[in-house]
Amino acid sequence: MHNALSVLKKYWGFSSFRNSQSEIITHILKGKDVCAFLPTGGGKSICFQIPSLCKEGICIVISPLVALMQDQVNNLKNKGIPATFLKGGMSFRDVDHELDNCIYGKTKFLYISPERLQQEIVQERIKQMNVSLFAIDEAHCISQWGHDFRPSYRELTILKELKPETNIVALTATATKEVQADIIKQLELNKPVIKKESFKRENIALQILFEEDKRYKLLQLLKKCNQSTIVYVRSRLVTKEISFFLNKNGVTAIAYHGGMPHEERKLALQNWITEKANVVVATNAFGMGIDKANVRLVVHFHLPESLESYFQEVGRCGRDGSESTAVTLYNKSDFIRLKNQFIDVIPTLDEVISIYLKLTQFFKIAYGEGENETYGINLFQFCKKYQFHHHKVYQTLQILERLSILQLNSYFQQNTKVQFISHQRNIFEQLQNDSNESKISQILLRTYGGIFDNLTQIDINLLSETASFKKEEVISILKNLENKEFIRLDLQTKDLSITFSVPKENERTIFRHAKYIKRYKQQKLEKAKAVVNYIQKNTICKSMQLMQYFGEKELIKCGKCSVCIEAKTSKKDNRIANVAEFVLQSLKKEELSARSLINLDLYSKEEIIESIQKLLQIGKIELSQSNTYKIKKQ
Ligand code: ADP
Ligand code: MG
Repeated sequence: MHNALSVLKKYWGFSSFRNSQSEIITHILKGKDVCAFLPTGGGKSICFQIPSLCKEGICIVISPLVALMQDQVNNLKNKGIPATFLKGGMSFRDVDHELDNCIYGKTKFLYISPERLQQEIVQERIKQMNVSLFAIDEAHCISQWGHDFRPSYRELTILKELKPETNIVALTATATKEVQADIIKQLELNKPVIKKESFKRENIALQILFEEDKRYKLLQLLKKCNQSTIVYVRSRLVTKEISFFLNKNGVTAIAYHGGMPHEERKLALQNWITEKANVVVATNAFGMGIDKANVRLVVHFHLPESLESYFQEVGRCGRDGSESTAVTLYNKSDFIRLKNQFIDVIPTLDEVISIYLKLTQFFKIAYGEGENETYGINLFQFCKKYQFHHHKVYQTLQILERLSILQLNSYFQQNTKVQFISHQRNIFEQLQNDSNESKISQILLRTYGGIFDNLTQIDINLLSETASFKKEEVISILKNLENKEFIRLDLQTKDLSITFSVPKENERTIFRHAKYIKRYKQQKLEKAKAVVNYIQKNTICKSMQLMQYFGEKELIKCGKCSVCIEAKTSKKDNRIANVAEFVLQSLKKEELSARSLINLDLYSKEEIIESIQKLLQIGKIELSQSNTYKIKKQ
């Protein structure tokens, strides 16, 4: 354990393990199979990374999404730890090369998807590796009771066949009993040690507030708090709108969303971490890998799509253990938004089939072909051509990715580049003042320093939001500027790359997953219903509701959520009303001083004084000249 602690200090710079981390690491080092059920942000990665660093050999991590792999591999590499992952669309030679490095080289971590594991070349090479540990991240994907069932996770039992001696650690933030039991069963774990942490966060007060004017309330909250805060919204555009509104009203705030160029995102994050701005207004892209301990307030300005996301986002405040608050602001329109944005966009089975077939048609893929081929696509053009709703297509692609039919990689428009050619003064002399071209040029010059000197990456989404033009309009304006030789333009219009993992059949490719697709929609609906329920139910402590949802048994009132506070105040109000009645009745008999009322010893001094004040305020009693109270004549 001494060794593990020094590894933690050396690479992470942390001085101690959290909660059950060290216990989990100890069991793994002893060669036991382990299940770790820790809340999101609980520090699961370290649980498998540190024991692997303490041992010889390589750790193989199974992870469901490229984005997660990329994030973790980058983090490890930044610490100087050799790590790699196999992404979709890699050539056989590259895969071969990476796997060789894992056998003969220094690679300490290999991240792969469950589909990759099914490839023969991968299995053969794993047999040749000195594997220290198998880690199954996001292990709930194995269970069809979970919220992210991924059929290929079911094939992970192959790990025990490949390396019977190597132990397995399964990690997830899912807490429901069914899923936990399913994980142990499906992975065929050998007498696993089970470590489960409570999801309760005692230092966070959960407040759910109905507000007609949410902006005004937000402003009030932020002015009062005046410390590190995250405001979560569910739209990129709204991050800009709200931060603009806040800045205009005296609260320094920055916007953050996944469509912003990398550099801009980094700067925004930096400004928030260093507290140049206390407030960040963000979409749920703000999260992964962000670890600021002293966040005092998290506000949900829109309703989240599931209690899982809610819990995760709420959990970003109060990591230092100090008292913190999580406020959700809602009104009637939020329920409609929730339905429009998160339920109605989920495709039906027929829609998935139709979009899949059109996709293969769009790429001109013949039957039996397309496997391991990568295609770039402009989602907008595709949707326009076939009259599909943009969000539906995107959702369909994500479903197909989960079903291992294809893999997605975003380009994020990151390849569109611009450089100004003429001298700045020149441009505005030649462009009409209020023309669209002039507007776009101004934004470009304001946003991107150095755009005269270099071909500079720009963000079309951002341009379109800032200028309030549609994306296509921005593109056509850029083309005009290019034609007039004001700029050099390197336009990359594809925004997504798709790698097919299976050859095209017909509807059958999709049809065999019919059950899954139907259930997917059903589950999203249930998640949203749970949110609505949680928001509206005001008879049970919010923390208890949340913990019950996560399958916890020992429930105690938190005493600080909106329900508990409301109950306390109304109880107190009742009590004061009783005391006031007592004071009134006593004064009807005779005039009395406060002291003599207190000396009757029926109620506490504070209660008597508070009720006297109430009665004075509402004009029921008055002070006499001899400093006693008497009933006021009406
Ligand atoms: P999970 O996978 O459980 O959601 P992560 O492994 O991503 O969580 O860790 C969440 C954050 O907590 C990371 O930023 C990580 O650096 C930090 N963290 C983990 N363990 C510790 C520790 N012992 N001390 C301080 N920070 C830690
Ligand atoms: Mg994790």
